[in-house]
Amino acid sequence: MRYHNITKDDMLNGDGLRVVLWVAGCNHCCRECHNPVTWDPDGGILFDDAARAEIFEQLDKSYISGITFSGGDPLHPANSLDVRKLMAEIRERYPNKTIWLYTGDIWENIFQYPVMQYVDVVVDGEFHVEEKDAKLLWKGSRNQRVIDVKKTMQQRNPKIPVLHCPDYSSPKDAPVPKPVTGAPVTSCVL
Ligand code: SF4
Repeated sequence: MRYHNITKDDMLNGDGLRVVLWVAGCNHCCRECHNPVTWDPDGGILFDDAARAEIFEQLDKSYISGITFSGGDPLHPANSLDVRKLMAEIRERYPNKTIWLYTGDIWENIFQYPVMQYVDVVVDGEFHVEEKDAKLLWKGSRNQRVIDVKKTMQQRNPKIPVLHCPDYSSPKDAPVPKPVTGAPVTSCVL
């Protein structure tokens, strides 16, 4: 696996203060992707023991809520196995920290992946620029979903996602519904 960055004390990619691993490799090619430099799986630098230690050093801090895997796509074939192994190690060493995963794939396609046993929250789906809204909580476009993996997996049908949070952190951020236009409705004339 290769990666572009490890960001620290991050407040923009999940609850609390987090360490974020930005992996290399994504084949979703979303229009106006915020991070096209991460598409090439051969880009960035090799994820080595020093990078792993850098992440653990962050997770050792009591005020760090957990780790977020982003990119790129952590579920790209070039990343999925190494991501799963790293998540397993983190889950064992830090059972009280949360693990978030951003992916361009949708929940219905990935909910049975073994990696999900380690994940607390998935933000799924490609970025749709026509549904972009900067006020959305933890996601870039309205089609994406912030999914509570544990609650979802406890359901009778885990294919139906249980959301982790509403679309907006505050009701005042939600867009005002447009008034219905067209001809006024009139009473029936008998
Ligand atoms: S899934 Fe994310 S990284 Fe991949 S192209 Fe879409 S927005 Fe960019």
